[in-house]
Amino acid sequence: MSILPNLTSKTRYASLPDHFYRRVQPLPLNNPYLVSFSPGMAEILEIDPASITTPEFTEVFTGNRLLNGSEPIATVYSGHQFGQYVPQLGDGRALVLGEVEDREGTTWEIQLKGAGLTPFSRMGDGRAVLRSTIREFLCSEAMAGLGIPTTRALCITGSKDEVYREKIESAAVLTRVATSHVRFGNFEFFFYRQQYDDLKLLADFVIDQYYPASREAENPYLDLLQQVIDKTARLIARWQLVGFTHGVMNSDNMSILGLTIDYGPYGFLDTCTAHFVCNHSDHLGRYAYDQQPQIGLFNLSCLAQALLPLIDDQNEQAAADKAQEKLNSYQSLYTEYYEQGMRDKLGLKEVHPGDGHLIENLFSAMENQVDFTRFFRALSQFEETGENHILRDRFIEPGRFDRWADIYRARLALEKSDPAERRQRMRRVNPKYVLRNYLVHRAIVKAESDDFGEIETLLSLLTRPFDEQPEMESYADEPPDWANTLELSCSS
Ligand code: AMP
Ligand code: MG
Repeated sequence: MSILPNLTSKTRYASLPDHFYRRVQPLPLNNPYLVSFSPGMAEILEIDPASITTPEFTEVFTGNRLLNGSEPIATVYSGHQFGQYVPQLGDGRALVLGEVEDREGTTWEIQLKGAGLTPFSRMGDGRAVLRSTIREFLCSEAMAGLGIPTTRALCITGSKDEVYREKIESAAVLTRVATSHVRFGNFEFFFYRQQYDDLKLLADFVIDQYYPASREAENPYLDLLQQVIDKTARLIARWQLVGFTHGVMNSDNMSILGLTIDYGPYGFLDTCTAHFVCNHSDHLGRYAYDQQPQIGLFNLSCLAQALLPLIDDQNEQAAADKAQEKLNSYQSLYTEYYEQGMRDKLGLKEVHPGDGHLIENLFSAMENQVDFTRFFRALSQFEETGENHILRDRFIEPGRFDRWADIYRARLALEKSDPAERRQRMRRVNPKYVLRNYLVHRAIVKAESDDFGEIETLLSLLTRPFDEQPEMESYADEPPDWANTLELSCSS
């Protein structure tokens, strides 16, 4: 039985010169077993369902057995980490096995994360632990369920081999799937080494493969920058709209396709707190929820800097001016995507001048008062006439809700929408279920004693986050008290 019938062993990225990557053999783990797989992703890759439970499947996605002709590669990149340039990073524990073209003609890179050392492992061990693979697996698929651009995940395999983190944990391998894993940092690597010919090869590759329309532009590299600015603004707006905090928005964790990539200490807001910091190691709150839009711009500036030699190779100042003009479009693009998304969440169809104000007012009313996801979900029940007890009673200080409700009521009156129809629309954009930290923690605790059922439960729940699933009602609850002490760090 063929495991990945459509796998092309040569990835497109490997058509670039040798020094863009290294060929690396995965290092086996002992007695691997399947922890979980995503039926949705398996279907896209046209994997025979009967093959999934075979030992061969587990061996292939642990890296213990290579599929015919597969020549795995680890790519080199660099990036700005917490604002500082780090000259060399790279896939320290990730290998692309090959690619699969799906029925729609989309080509997916199949990557093992945690399959052993690579030349870019630096001080790391090339491994991933069960805990972190579960976090990435579930969130990738949950984001896909929310319709937010993201890398995907096919499966997790585990082994009892020990991995040393703050404590001893067991090893696991995540199979990550993405149309491209190229990061802003791939560009920065060649720019800072002044390898401008390589920089151009990379940019041409990305344009030809992923942004073919930019080839037609007067300046393809400037247009590439504009496209990435647009995709990034859109992505970060989507994060803000569901209360998602990435946690480590370094420029090496920014996808050139505007995908959410590298799930580490991420978090969804429970109580609405603008300065929510999910990464316990982020003492200054650089990557707090409310900082993400401006950090997006910082990272785009890093990318723009790296593209300057291509934007104008004769005149540095002219290149910088052109790039700056593009960067200047970020704020308004972001605001446009964000405000449109918020209007959808509030059930508003028309655009009115005071909308920004309405949104700002809502967030100041919600701050430290209500659960983010539960409030937005419940807002579809807003009555234009009436006291709205269901909503106001959620607030520690209900008067805050009342003041905002007056503005909202007046704004709704400008549109005269049908309440039943509005309610339906709002439920399609305000999820009932998100991957709250306590939910993923519970699944990890069970998995660490070899019970993987909760992973499957969450996966199936979060594939349909907008649907009422009455038997799953408790999964929409606010975190229990024990969850207050949970802490997340970069350790993975
Ligand atoms: P991250 O913070 O996960 O985005 O990782 C930053 C860099 O560290 C990347 O180059 C990773 O490949 C590398 N890295 C993270 N964990 C490990 C590990 N356990 N072994 C080798 N490299 C790692
Ligand atoms: Mg990373």
